[in-house]
Amino acid sequence: MIKITDRIFAETNYTGCNIGWVLTDEGIVLIDTPALPADIADLKKKINISNIAYTIFTHEHFDHVLGGAEFGKRIIAHINVIPEIERLRTALPQDVNIFFPELYRQHKNYFDNVKLNFPQITYNDTLNLKLGSTEIQMFHVGGHSSASVFVYLPQDKILFCGDNINFGMPYPTPISQFDEWNRLLKKTERMDIDKIIPGHGEICGKNQAHDLRVYFEGLQAQVTDMIKQGQTRDEVIGSVDVAKYLPVPMDDSLKPQIAYHTGMMYEQVYGKTK
Ligand SMILES: [Zn+2]
Repeated sequence: MIKITDRIFAETNYTGCNIGWVLTDEGIVLIDTPALPADIADLKKKINISNIAYTIFTHEHFDHVLGGAEFGKRIIAHINVIPEIERLRTALPQDVNIFFPELYRQHKNYFDNVKLNFPQITYNDTLNLKLGSTEIQMFHVGGHSSASVFVYLPQDKILFCGDNINFGMPYPTPISQFDEWNRLLKKTERMDIDKIIPGHGEICGKNQAHDLRVYFEGLQAQVTDMIKQGQTRDEVIGSVDVAKYLPVPMDDSLKPQIAYHTGMMYEQVYGKTK
């Protein structure tokens, strides 16, 4: 458990995703939920579950929302979380088995039976909570996923950013939108932020937003040029060279990730030319 400020805490050692919580005069606000039974039990030892005022989801991916079944008395989320939870209510075992087969094998009974909770409070663009002296702002940013939001505590200058900003290489998924992602990274660079709690990995600063934007923009510029020259998707993936834009030192092990990002970027840039 990491104490971020007097009232903000985070847990970055759970298997599913990072968890945050804020102590307010009107109870605890939990930000994202642990996905596995052992981590759920661990969190219950650290916070008084009956004192949770609200649980906020940063986005719809199952590694962030699963614990809503345990911690979800009053869940707040972007409206686009609802269709994904509807889908996950039947597709969860299959999804976990595809992306994390070993985890599924170990916890099959749990994943087959867990009942996901829908958010009770949803919003489209922004939502503000004022709980005693604590202000919590939520705003929709998209990028990594359609329901991705930022959870910002302006008095503390702390940002919970879901999977949009993290140390190291970014985590695009097939539904990520790079234009939106670049816009939200630029916005983050202008925000008053001391620390960012990412959806996964170590706590970081807003320089990570800058580093990810440099990578996405460098990749986008090269892919755009290659499309103008008439290169095919496979040719673009084969010839792109983004070593100097990467947020981490170039390494051969990164090639599959770069190829995946390049393929997605090709489809989004090419899609705009049609
Ligand atoms: Zn995610």
